[in-house]
Amino acid sequence: MTAADNLEPVRSRYLVIGSGIAGLQFALLAARSGTVQVVTKKESRESNTNYAQGGIAAVVSPLDDFELHIQDTLVAGAGLCREDVVRKMVEAGPELVERLVGYGVAFTREDGDQGREFSLGREGGHSRRRVLHCRDLTGREIETHLVAACRADERVHLHENQIGLDLLQGKDAGLTGADAERVIGCVVQDRNTGSRSIYLADAVVLATGGCGKVYSYTSNPDIATGDGLAMAFRAGAELCNLEFVQFHPTCLFHPEAKSFLISEAVRGEGAVLINRSGERFMAKYHAQADLAPRDIVARSIDREMKTSGDPCVFLDLRHLDRKHIEDRFPHLVERCRRFGIDMAGEPVPVVPAAHYMCGGVAVDLDSRASLPGLYAVGEVACTGIHGANRLASNSLLEAVFFASRAAEAVADEPVLAAGITGRLRESWQRRNPVPSQVEAMVLEHDWDTVRRIMWDYVGVVRDKARLDIALARLRGIRETVEKLLSQAPRSPEVVELRNIALVGEMIVLCARSRHESRGLHFTLDYPDLLPVAEDSRLRKGVPLAGETCYEPSVSPEDE
Ligand SMILES: Cc1cc2nc3c(=O)[nH]c(=O)nc-3n(C[C@H](O)[C@H](O)[C@H](O)COP(=O)(O)OP(=O)(O)OC[C@H]3O[C@@H](n4cnc5c(N)ncnc54)[C@H](O)[C@@H]3O)c2cc1C
Repeated sequence: MTAADNLEPVRSRYLVIGSGIAGLQFALLAARSGTVQVVTKKESRESNTNYAQGGIAAVVSPLDDFELHIQDTLVAGAGLCREDVVRKMVEAGPELVERLVGYGVAFTREDGDQGREFSLGREGGHSRRRVLHCRDLTGREIETHLVAACRADERVHLHENQIGLDLLQGKDAGLTGADAERVIGCVVQDRNTGSRSIYLADAVVLATGGCGKVYSYTSNPDIATGDGLAMAFRAGAELCNLEFVQFHPTCLFHPEAKSFLISEAVRGEGAVLINRSGERFMAKYHAQADLAPRDIVARSIDREMKTSGDPCVFLDLRHLDRKHIEDRFPHLVERCRRFGIDMAGEPVPVVPAAHYMCGGVAVDLDSRASLPGLYAVGEVACTGIHGANRLASNSLLEAVFFASRAAEAVADEPVLAAGITGRLRESWQRRNPVPSQVEAMVLEHDWDTVRRIMWDYVGVVRDKARLDIALARLRGIRETVEKLLSQAPRSPEVVELRNIALVGEMIVLCARSRHESRGLHFTLDYPDLLPVAEDSRLRKGVPLAGETCYEPSVSPEDE
């Protein structure tokens, strides 16, 4: 422990880790029944939510129907969705959207700001126009208003630049019996000063988002390192379906463009994919051509690139009305222009990139994880909504739906945090050894290696041989990380490297255990579907398809 560490725990009824749409929506609703501390590892707005472009799917048009949205979701999910859960979410959609409007979110309307009808976009896999959007900056608009609402609520306390390191459990405070496994808080580190604090709460809510940074190419911002997945696993919670990584088909292919996504809504407005010879190729692969589900589009692009040897394909909007494009996608047009590309006037180079994690911490309809006191909401959770593949624009809806369910459920959690004293301090010291020096170069090298391995061996198309290579190499790196952890300063980079290495390994383990191709998981060894759809389930110390999951060996006395 360092002198700068904060020895007095911060106690509250609820602790939220993450300030994207899921964490903030939870905080606003849960504040009605208790105080909420929200810790977030960068500035409040920095999240996947902030970059969502397309919008949020909900049945708000008289031309649409709950049944159609449910069916579209189930079809995309390829047999692994929980239909009862999907139904509840879809039926709640209109009310959830109205609540966002109540926070001030200005969804684009037909006939300008005063128009009564929402302007609805259409995206791949949707049988109707049903995607509410704020031009092409939907996520930023939602995030801005939710952050403002949280700041205005005196029962919600937002702490920026605080990175959650590991969950605390009853056993860390000397609790025994059923309370030993209960999640009671989190060790948190200030990114700027390095000082650490303990947060204790009666319910701990993981809202840490996705893990796109596990791959070399991703649409996700830097925060998406799968920290919540890794923390939950280390604490012993069940995770499932991590093999279902959605690759967005169209990220801008440009040496200076980092994580720049060209929304699927662009194809919804009529843009088409072409190869270097100018051929529209999607009709070769699927009846819905350019509006086929994302996994099909990503695989088709992968196939075109591998067959031709070209590093990218192109999105063609030249046949569309320039004014309409500039009006509908002003942000995209401007960003492309900054890279020297005239989006409406020339083919835009694109490649697939890791975009969304469909699996996650296994939760029930109230977002409860398998450990008492622990909840997971948003992209970090596996709720049964997405199954083997996410329908576009269902994730923002899922996040607000499950955040609302969790906010009701947590009110029943017993009051515990206020009375916990125990031996937290010693436990914390064991988990956070005194820092020493480590070479930044080693760190950076391992970061790149993990991401490269995942990209090369665990990408859009998989096979057993490559998964085995990935597993062996990731394990080697993990051992290095473990060594680093016992010596290294707990810089955010080490914390995140530890997490991406573990998440990569977990994705490989889930992928190896699935002996079929379903939804987003496509393997050359098992190209067919098995007759019965089953979740892959992962838990610390429990073998999955013959391989026991990684158990951290940093501080064995913790166990
Ligand atoms: C470019 C892009 C476009 C997208 N477009 C759409 C779309 O149009 N429609 C749609 O439905 N979905 C879209 N998605 C997906 C959607 O944005 C996300 O799934 C959703 O926003 C996730 O919300 P969340 O609250 O779960 O996580 P996030 O919004 O990612 O928030 C996670 C939060 O956790 C914090 N955090 C992470 N780790 C820690 C830690 N260790 N300690 C403390 N804090 C931590 C982060 O800093 C962040 O505040 C898009 C995603 C991307 C990347």
